[in-house]
Amino acid sequence: MLQYLTVPVTPFQQNCSILWCDATHEAALIDPGGEIDRLQAEVQRLGLKLTQLWLTHAHIDHAGGTGELAERLGLPIIGPHSGDQFWIDGLPMQSQRFGFAPAQHFTPTRWLTDGDTVTVGQETVQVRHCPGHTPGHVVFHAPQIDRAFVGDVLFAGSIGRTDFPQSNHQQLIDSITQRLWPMGDQTVFIPGHGPESTFGRERRSNPYVGGT
Ligand SMILES: [Zn+2]
Ligand SMILES: [Zn+2]
Repeated sequence: MLQYLTVPVTPFQQNCSILWCDATHEAALIDPGGEIDRLQAEVQRLGLKLTQLWLTHAHIDHAGGTGELAERLGLPIIGPHSGDQFWIDGLPMQSQRFGFAPAQHFTPTRWLTDGDTVTVGQETVQVRHCPGHTPGHVVFHAPQIDRAFVGDVLFAGSIGRTDFPQSNHQQLIDSITQRLWPMGDQTVFIPGHGPESTFGRERRSNPYVGGT
């Protein structure tokens, strides 16, 4: 079985998730944006062995702690999609602009593309490429527990910003309606910020994509 615990980090209260296989106690961190000492302490408290870092996209609040944590523990960095290379290159500028601790540069061990799978312990998770907020944004879907980790694609009652370089509003809407909705109304999603919701609830009531 897969289990997860979401830990909001950074001044942006970004939802970093600890995702683990309870048969092997191996864990992945999704979007270790910062506060990596605290994340490590949580992993230890849960009795888990951290084996990899997964990224939905390379904005500072999601990716800022990745380089340092990967180096400290010798962990592979999985994702995002290569469309976010320019955001990774821009991490020093992002940390300065938003008053974050200087982010250490990193190179993903493996870029992800649509239809890929990633594994933690004995569990397999599906990857969907969901561009729009950033060109290389990916989403992690765990159908075995009806959960999706969607980063800044969709929020409870809102959608991701598209006022960044290489953002695209229509692409974001298409990602939501063509790649998230097919995961099913019952699927609970963990957004990059704020509370969880279900795709069914957002399809009914989200002011940006409701009724689609
Ligand atoms: Zn973002
Ligand atoms: Zn964010």
